[in-house]
Amino acid sequence: MKTAPRMIASGSIRSAEIDMTEGTTGQFRQILKDKRLALKNALGHRDEISIVRAADVLDALQLSQERSLAVQSLDLNTQLLRQVEAALDRLDEGAYGTCLHCEDPIPERRLRALPWAILCVGCQEREERRNPRGSTALLKEAA
Ligand SMILES: [Zn+2]
Repeated sequence: MKTAPRMIASGSIRSAEIDMTEGTTGQFRQILKDKRLALKNALGHRDEISIVRAADVLDALQLSQERSLAVQSLDLNTQLLRQVEAALDRLDEGAYGTCLHCEDPIPERRLRALPWAILCVGCQEREERRNPRGSTALLKEAA
């Protein structure tokens, strides 16, 4: 199992480590809310995966390929939406901008690029090495 040398720092100390003003937090909240809205709109458009009766087998094959592509991007958006909502929860809890694994502050530069990031770069890379085809890798591509 991984070691967690910073476990002692959980709770009161870690929020003091984040050099983030109220204004900055408000900006991220707005970015995340906009993203959540955009994702919910995107997820609302499910027409392309409605089942269409194909005239022949070739059409059916093509349709099923298109459907599976649509489903993939739907999965991605669903996962992203979950991350965005988790980030908003963390904003409310005052835990936003703190790595979920090591509890180090996530640099603001990273949050600007990926406002729903829940891991610092080091932990994210470890996660991707452990699970290269996992959801975090997909999310990075989507962002
Ligand atoms: Zn970390």
